[in-house]
Amino acid sequence: MQPLDCAMTTELARAIQNLERNGFLDLEVDPELDLVAEINRLKREKNAVILAHYYQDSEIQDVADFIGDSLGLSQKAAQTNADIIVFAGVHFMAETAKMLSPQKKVLLPDLKAGCSLADSCPPHLFRPFKEKYPDHIVVSYINCSAEMKTLTDICCTSTNAVAIIESIPKDQPIIFAPDKNLGAYLIKKTGRDMVLWNGTCMVHEIFSHERIVKLKARHPNAKFIAHPECEPHILEMADFIGSTTGLLKFTISDSATEYIVATEPGILHQMQKASPHKTFIPAPPQNNCACNECPHMKRNTMEKLYLCMTYEQPEITLPDWVIEQGVRSINRMLAISEKAGLGLKKD
Ligand code: SF4
Repeated sequence: MQPLDCAMTTELARAIQNLERNGFLDLEVDPELDLVAEINRLKREKNAVILAHYYQDSEIQDVADFIGDSLGLSQKAAQTNADIIVFAGVHFMAETAKMLSPQKKVLLPDLKAGCSLADSCPPHLFRPFKEKYPDHIVVSYINCSAEMKTLTDICCTSTNAVAIIESIPKDQPIIFAPDKNLGAYLIKKTGRDMVLWNGTCMVHEIFSHERIVKLKARHPNAKFIAHPECEPHILEMADFIGSTTGLLKFTISDSATEYIVATEPGILHQMQKASPHKTFIPAPPQNNCACNECPHMKRNTMEKLYLCMTYEQPEITLPDWVIEQGVRSINRMLAISEKAGLGLKKD
């Protein structure tokens, strides 16, 4: 870190003191600073890697070392040789990176970048629910808190969820948490009868059936593609259902040239980059907005990214017992994914 003048030291001390309340370092950033150049310099100087989720703003995706969905990002976090992991995503993702690489420093530009789905399954309520089904094993979507992972036998993501469920013996009953929409989709897809926790993602549960039908009528050649976190009546209309990475790959290999996309619209940046000749239209929600952004993901900004890399704050820390007990469910998921051919290609 460069030496700071006295006024800056006082400002920084105040920003660190207010970190918990604000979620980020609330410091002025010179508007003329070339943030891309500065962030790249910090990456080199600190041997830091930026892992960004597809739902981040496009300028953050463009400065990242790796862009992916939850599975790809957790696999990358487990493999990296960097000293610092900067997670441009939400809180549970940075926690997952910390659990997989506890010896590394993990930074999150804004601690308040949470997740409505993770919040819908608080461990103190899930524990007694689980106790009602003592012979069941727990499969949890990775979109849950670190403590929730300590109550989980195997994690999954939307990319590997079918492979995870199918790896479990047929006579073994299962609780699936926290996303009831993904759970219902998996019941339909695998034929397994699972007990579902009643959680949802605020982004994927508010797509408007009526507005999508109208949009389809205006774009009769467009294919409608959707993430399995969407509600069943939305999935019923879909020409293709897949994880964020699955949707991206589909738009690359498919022959259509127009798509209506029902997931967080951040992914449209990579879709457009991969297929510049195609048109991508975000599916509308049940309000007056044209698209459906995740307010948690969008808390991260280039300024917050720059500040957190400069001062190495806010940092994700977890109690040892949470790391030890929670990482088992993630490692089981990674092992099953590898076996199912869903491993990340090594660089
Ligand atoms: S899109 Fe939904 S599941 Fe993803 S971080 Fe936002 S609230 Fe959570």
